[in-house]
Amino acid sequence: TIGAISLDKKGSMSAGTSSSGLFMKKPGRVGDSPLSGSGFYVDSDIGGAAATGLGEDLMKGILSYEIVRKMDGGMTPQEACDEAVYSFHDKLTKKYGKCGAMSLVAMNNKGDWGVATNVEFTFSVGNDQNKAAIYIANMGE
Ligand code: ASP
Repeated sequence: TIGAISLDKKGSMSAGTSSSGLFMKKPGRVGDSPLSGSGFYVDSDIGGAAATGLGEDLMKGILSYEIVRKMDGGMTPQEACDEAVYSFHDKLTKKYGKCGAMSLVAMNNKGDWGVATNVEFTFSVGNDQNKAAIYIANMGE
C-alpha cells in the first residue's frame, strides 16, 4: 500500500491510497485502503492521515479518522499517531491476544507531520516551495 497526504500552497489538503491489498487475499475482500476513515482521511481545516498494514485490524479502529480527530483536539500529528496506534495496539492485544501490523502517517494543515508503527515501515517527506507545498507518503512494510 502507498498512502499519501498533501498540502498545497493555498492550504488545500488531499489524501489517498493505492493498494494491491493483502498477499493471498480472498477474492472479494475489501481492505481498509479504499475506505475513508480507515485507509485514509483528510479535512483541510485540520489535516490528514493514511494507513498501511492489516486492514482487518485497521478497520476496527478507523485509525485514519481517529488521528485527524485527535489533531482537531489539539494534538500534534506525532502525538496523535502515537496515541492512536499504540493505544489501539494495546487494546487489540489485550482483547484478542494479538494485533496485526499498523503503520500510519499524518500531516496537519500547517505541514507538521508524524508517523507511528507497531512493526517497521518506510516513509518519505517532501517539500517543494514552488509547486505543491508538502507531501508525506508511506510505502508499506
Ligand atoms: N492495508 C492493506 C489491506 O489490508 C494492505 C497493506 O497495506 O499492505 O488491504
